[in-house]
Amino acid sequence: MKDISEIRSDFPILGRQVYGKPLIYFDNGATTQKPKCVIDTYSRIFTEFNGNVHRGVHAMSDLTSEAYENAREKVRSFINATKKEEIIFTSGTTDSINCVAFSFGERFVKPGDEIIISELEHHSNIVPWQMMCQRKGAVLKIIPIDDNGEICFDEFLKLLTPRTRLVAISQASNSLGTVVPVKKITDAAHSENIPVLVDGAQGIQHGIVDVQELQCDFYAFSGHKIYGPTGIGVLYGKEEWMNELPPYRGGGDMVEKVTFEKTTYQNLPYKFEAGTVNYAGAIAMAEALDYVLGLGREDIAEREKTLLDYATRQLISVKGLKIYGNAENKIPVVSFLLDGIHQYDTGIILDKMGIAVRTGTHCAQPVMDHFGIDGTVRVSMSFYNTFSEIDTLVEGLGKVIAMFKK
Ligand code: PLP
Repeated sequence: MKDISEIRSDFPILGRQVYGKPLIYFDNGATTQKPKCVIDTYSRIFTEFNGNVHRGVHAMSDLTSEAYENAREKVRSFINATKKEEIIFTSGTTDSINCVAFSFGERFVKPGDEIIISELEHHSNIVPWQMMCQRKGAVLKIIPIDDNGEICFDEFLKLLTPRTRLVAISQASNSLGTVVPVKKITDAAHSENIPVLVDGAQGIQHGIVDVQELQCDFYAFSGHKIYGPTGIGVLYGKEEWMNELPPYRGGGDMVEKVTFEKTTYQNLPYKFEAGTVNYAGAIAMAEALDYVLGLGREDIAEREKTLLDYATRQLISVKGLKIYGNAENKIPVVSFLLDGIHQYDTGIILDKMGIAVRTGTHCAQPVMDHFGIDGTVRVSMSFYNTFSEIDTLVEGLGKVIAMFKK
């Protein structure tokens, strides 16, 4: 892997100051910073070859369409999907999950059917299923978690019934950092012929994702969480499912023939890409994937594990600090509270020291309810963070505690 100072210099924002202090960015779970190559690609699209995709006979449209389809191929290869047609560009994880919840619900869910999610989910992997269940008269079943923040696998097995139509599960928890055994879940669900959607929003950036190995039927992720731009994401869906599902949105480019009596749809993937797509986002996201591949996904995972171990060790040594989420296998996320100090106070004071952490429920209110708290402070790391940034955080927490003791 490249030297850390070389890596950091790839990310222009990491050189800036906040309130006169060097920025220490520990909110990578919310969104990641962008390397210069991604920023340059985004700008190059509009300075060199911008035209709407799949629409023109002119050179600008052709060049953009080619770059857009190359981006699709890069995503296919990045997650090792079998076919390019299985890659749908969406606006992000939320959009991808809503697409499956709507289309799958329309086609396959009847009153009394059951959908399984877990207590660990981000709201994006709860609310679309709740909405679908309400629409279809279906029932949402919840896999509980234990006090370490791990999925109770035996309870999951008990929830599988002949009425189960789909399981939707996070690859990793954004609020606690738990890595979920998705392969084990997929194997168990498939033995009952039940498809599985994996919310990869917090999985894609921390290791190698191979959808053929995971055997999941749907996989969703966001570009902005893997060093790409906002407003772009991916829905991977196995061809045999996606061919069966009705389109989620109607409009231009997703149709074959339109008359006032009847409309026929395009084949995959275009059936699910109505209207002008975020082609600039897709092309720049593909550049981000190339950047990640250039660093090496195994090396990224190894470095992030070292950062997680160090941060965990240093943070538990802070008097009065309690960590929420002690799963055996975690992404580089540490969620905690300081005894008697509200998470917002901690976050606001750290911010004044140039340290960006996330505070609140992390869009995972049921997780907070599990622990009987109204939020945590979350430190979510990336390969570009350093050990000395962790030391500065720990010093900062010491100052927060001292302020509240007075
Ligand atoms: N799922 C998980 C686990 C997340 O962490 C997030 C975002 O934090 C989402 C879904 C939603 O992602 P987006 O807001 O990019 O659609």
